[in-house]
Amino acid sequence: MDCIFCKIAKKQIPSAVLYEDKDFLAFLDIGPVNPGHTLVIPKAHYQTFLDLPKKELSNINIVSQKLAAAIMKATNAHGFNIVMNNHPAAGQEVNHVHFHIIPRFDNDNKWLRQPKTKYKDGEIDAIAAKIKSLL
Ligand code: AMP
Ligand code: ZN
Repeated sequence: MDCIFCKIAKKQIPSAVLYEDKDFLAFLDIGPVNPGHTLVIPKAHYQTFLDLPKKELSNINIVSQKLAAAIMKATNAHGFNIVMNNHPAAGQEVNHVHFHIIPRFDNDNKWLRQPKTKYKDGEIDAIAAKIKSLL
């Protein structure tokens, strides 16, 4: 399979590795929103959040928390975003699941909040009922 993150995980393509264990790799994003912007991936290929087996799902959060703490200290960031884009409609460009950990600074204007919308009459109850029925 021609997946750039599988190649990074197998060291066929170089990357600035920050952390590695048998299941996960964390490395610097080559096009950072801010310096220190990090990607955390499972070494095995899964496309999205929904495809991650429960053990990896749980452990990738533990790895990401450890990374986020170090990134905050190393960059003197004031905050950070953890973001995952799932499917192209949500901006996923590399179809190997990854968390972005992005250090943020007061007023850096790097991550624009989208304008909020409002529900029409009855819409909030309908969507809540539909989601709950599928849990
Ligand atoms: P996404 O849009 O969520 O799929 O994010 C993919 C990210 O991968 C982007 O932020 C890219 O800058 C990053 N990226 C792509 N190729 C590489 C690479 N060879 N090394 C490090 N980061 C990369
Ligand atoms: Zn892959």
